[in-house]
Amino acid sequence: MFDFAARRIGRAAAETFVDPMVSGVFGGLARELSLPACFPVMREMEMQYGGLVKAMVARQLEKRRSQKKTGRAEKTTGGPAGPSGRLTSFKTGLDVLTQCLGNKLGTIIKRNQTAVQIQRREDGWDIIDQNGITARARQVVIACPTYTAASMFLDFDRGISAALNAFPYAPIIVVASGHRREDVIHPLDGFGFLIPRSQKIRTLGSIWTSSIFSERAPEGYIQFRSMLGGAGDTSVNGLSDEQLWNTLKRELDPLIGIRNDPHLLQIYRWERGIPQFTLGHRERRACLERLIERHPGLFVVGNAYYGVSLNECIKMAYRVSEKILKK
Ligand SMILES: Cc1cc2nc3c(=O)[nH]c(=O)nc-3n(C[C@H](O)[C@H](O)[C@H](O)COP(=O)(O)OP(=O)(O)OC[C@H]3O[C@@H](n4cnc5c(N)ncnc54)[C@H](O)[C@@H]3O)c2cc1C
Repeated sequence: MFDFAARRIGRAAAETFVDPMVSGVFGGLARELSLPACFPVMREMEMQYGGLVKAMVARQLEKRRSQKKTGRAEKTTGGPAGPSGRLTSFKTGLDVLTQCLGNKLGTIIKRNQTAVQIQRREDGWDIIDQNGITARARQVVIACPTYTAASMFLDFDRGISAALNAFPYAPIIVVASGHRREDVIHPLDGFGFLIPRSQKIRTLGSIWTSSIFSERAPEGYIQFRSMLGGAGDTSVNGLSDEQLWNTLKRELDPLIGIRNDPHLLQIYRWERGIPQFTLGHRERRACLERLIERHPGLFVVGNAYYGVSLNECIKMAYRVSEKILKK
């Protein structure tokens, strides 16, 4: 990704704009990530139009032509870098989605059980949990991170297990801090900020959650969601909660002016948080898909394959469920 950006917009711009965007979205390093794996649309548009600027101009012209023809303004869908528009979430957070799905499916879902092994049967599959209880199914969709899926396949198919283990992940630590409004000097009139790695600041960025979603903090308070770690800073896992907050405070204070310690502090550690679509990702994915296809009724979904965003996970889930329904 870095080379792609540096060739088109120059090294300084790539370091200042692309590097922090990449660490903000993927927790990754622009020099290690694969452009066609991370942003396939950008790659396709460049191939189709012969350049990013040409692609943007062509898109605008197409939009204008279609507006003239239909007399209606076309909905903006964004440029080659991705969709445009506002940041979207549920009022109380993204877990609303999984909670609702869980409630809708009711007792079909067996909660708090860890699948540890998968075995082939003549007419389907056995999934064995940590208590040795077996669930039987004609079709199985593995939807957990690749590293846990890998251990389930150790006895059944070592090739699949090795292919799953080949996907790297980066750690991410999210520090959610709630402050009294008067304890932060900055007007917080924005989205927050991402920091280029070249600045030698450990914090990857800080999102001003309550500026984006007002219901995320009560009247008179504000909330930040700051991130540390990523592929370039795996030692972050060794820091205590106190060390994490001290690092953040030291680095955020000169930028936004923090007068006091937070009123509320919650730290979420994702030791293997975000899959890294590094160079060779598409080949690793194709290798896994070839191995999986040898077993009818077996599928994988999740953020490690076609995109890390929730949207991409949902799209992949639709594609897999359509395949299953066709059977
Ligand atoms: C800190 C952070 C912030 C993010 N922010 C955003 C964002 O703002 N917008 C966005 O679009 N994306 C965001 N993402 C990415 C997005 O949240 C994830 O990519 C997405 O939720 C992954 O979905 P998934 O179903 O693949 O995996 P998960 O959500 O990890 O689900 C996997 C499930 O498998 C279960 N599981 C694991 N092992 C087993 C086992 N052996 N047996 C049974 N169950 C098992 C786990 O408990 C878990 O429930 C963020 C990711 C991180 C880490």
